[in-house]
Amino acid sequence: VIQLVGVTKSYRNLNVLKPVDLDIKDGEFLTILGPSGSGKTTILRMIGGFTPPTSGRILLRGADISQVPIFRRPFNTVFQDYALFPHMTVAKNVAYGLRIRRRPAAEIKTKVSAVLDTVNLTDKAERYPSELSGGQRQRVALARAIVCEPQVILLDEPLAALDAELRRSMQEFLKDLQRRIRTTFVFITHDQEEAISMSDRIAVMDHGNLVQVGTPQEIYYKPRSEFVAKFFGENN
Ligand code: ATP
Repeated sequence: VIQLVGVTKSYRNLNVLKPVDLDIKDGEFLTILGPSGSGKTTILRMIGGFTPPTSGRILLRGADISQVPIFRRPFNTVFQDYALFPHMTVAKNVAYGLRIRRRPAAEIKTKVSAVLDTVNLTDKAERYPSELSGGQRQRVALARAIVCEPQVILLDEPLAALDAELRRSMQEFLKDLQRRIRTTFVFITHDQEEAISMSDRIAVMDHGNLVQVGTPQEIYYKPRSEFVAKFFGENN
């Protein structure tokens, strides 16, 4: 669904991303995995349209979207810090994207209630973000992303702020959600176990290089470099 062709990124004369070629398949759960500073967020931000590539092209179903502005891309991003509107109820937060797209009120109502049901938050519809737990807030952020039915959902370390137990239950929740709504998810993490347990495929980053792309089994059992082998060996 998305193709990165020779995409690079430099900030002034600092080259943070070497040419990256990556094919993201329709409906897959693809994880970009790598240590801090390896360039994961930079890739996600370029796909989302938050920052342009220095060179190379980003294609959506074959069409170059490098120049398409952020709000016209059929993607939605979920950030680590949720970024909910504190003065709006859960239902209003979820409805926001539909309201700015001027969808009819009846459609908004039906979709918001269906999506809140999907993320098991029907009983919190009239609450405010400050009245929710971290996991619930993250589910609101997910609801807000999926309600507009984007073609791809971009997730920038969405579970990093949660404690270990909640993180595990949210991992299962996210995976199950992705299967139910059959949307392409591009997920960022620096946690190898999280990547292995959730992904259809993993793209491993090291110092701005995309060093290997493969299924969790391929990456774990057939690491293509010492870096990948070591990175996965750390937890064993
Ligand atoms: P983390 O897991 O810590 O978020 P990451 O793998 O997502 O790391 P990026 O955020 O993509 O890494 O950053 C890659 C490199 O680009 C880093 O060395 C970072 O310092 C640099 N960088 C990112 N944004 C900018 C910017 N706006 N100006 C200059 N350098 C930047």
